Amino acid sequence: MAFDAPLDIEAIREQFPVLSRQINGRTLVYLDNAASAQKPRAVIRAMTDVMEGGYANVHRGLHTLANETTEAYEKARLSVTRFLGANEGEIVFTKGGTEAINLVAAGLGQTLGEGDEILITQMEHHSNIVPWHFLRERKGVVLRFAPVTETGELDLAATLPMINDRTRVVSLTQMSNVLGTINPLQAITEAAHAVGAMVLVDGCQGAVHLAIDVKALDCDFYVCTGHKLYGPTGIGVLYGKAERLAALPPYQGGGEMIGTVSETKITYADPPMRFEAGTPPIIEAIGLGAAVEWMMRFDRAAVAAHEKALYDRVIERLDGANWLRVIGTAPDKGAILSFTIAGAHPHDIAQILDKQGVAVRAGAHCAEPLMARFGVTASARASFALYNSLTEADAFSDALVKARSFFA
Ligand SMILES: *Cc1c(COP(=O)(O)O)cnc(C)c1O
Repeated sequence: MAFDAPLDIEAIREQFPVLSRQINGRTLVYLDNAASAQKPRAVIRAMTDVMEGGYANVHRGLHTLANETTEAYEKARLSVTRFLGANEGEIVFTKGGTEAINLVAAGLGQTLGEGDEILITQMEHHSNIVPWHFLRERKGVVLRFAPVTETGELDLAATLPMINDRTRVVSLTQMSNVLGTINPLQAITEAAHAVGAMVLVDGCQGAVHLAIDVKALDCDFYVCTGHKLYGPTGIGVLYGKAERLAALPPYQGGGEMIGTVSETKITYADPPMRFEAGTPPIIEAIGLGAAVEWMMRFDRAAVAAHEKALYDRVIERLDGANWLRVIGTAPDKGAILSFTIAGAHPHDIAQILDKQGVAVRAGAHCAEPLMARFGVTASARASFALYNSLTEADAFSDALVKARSFFA
């Protein structure tokens, strides 16, 4: 594959119109990428092109615009199929990562009951906790949490024995949205499959920062979300192994997901259509297709190395700052920096940084069990994307030192 090599960050930045915005008199330094990424022109164009150049509802059409839009929608599905290394027919469009996990949990839940166990981890996003809590409440399944160590790593030695012959599902994040930790998926997947349990990988962060090959991962389900992949909101992806999707009951009912409907009987369409009830997010899917095509132009390892260099630069600049507590210090982690500053509320830190044009997130990051694990109710979080520069990493470090001086 031909990549734009080497990574030309300035040229990449120019493709993101918003990055030249002024915020409080400074050029924006956008470090809230783990919450949502900015969009390149390729994505913006793909979406406006379909609206301006010819748009219609998909799949039923007998006219030119309907056929063209259907083709663009299905082409986007093929782009995502390639992006994840899946086979045709294994990619379902959803409205986001959250809906994709709910779809799987609701479907699998129909066959689960008292005594069945679901294993997740302490570092999951609420999207990968609450749908399983539903099954605890409604079906009596046992929901177990694999522990996280002081450095923010999955405690593998403690986790593997939690996978036993009652385990039906293991659902875990590939990369923590708070800690940046990258989980040992292979060991977990092998242990889960050895007892006949299914594995769902939450790739909402992982797909952004790592090269993904769902076949090599050998997971049963893989989930990611458009808006963190430099694509639009309102679109997510569920990958499922063909036989897993084929065995999964439908989630929502409506148009497009049926075989036939009569007054006394319904039959369902095959996957992926079975899981795409109603008019799908057509424009958003096309935008996501453009986003992953755009991402596939870059060597993913080079992107990850660039992002990690930014993270390392900040850590180096703040080395010895005894007022800074970094939460998540796993070796080989991704470029997400969660931190607290003694005596300062994370919300105040974020607001003071914003005054200097730096956008970070502060709060529980939809991960309250993880916050509890580290004895905090909130943290601030700077998260890096491929368009961030070393200059921005330094601007963030300087802004943080200045912010801290207000509390010292
Ligand atoms: C963002 C995120 C989600 C949820 O994705 P949505 O786009 O909000 O549906 C789930 N898991 C992780 C790890 C995330 O970072």
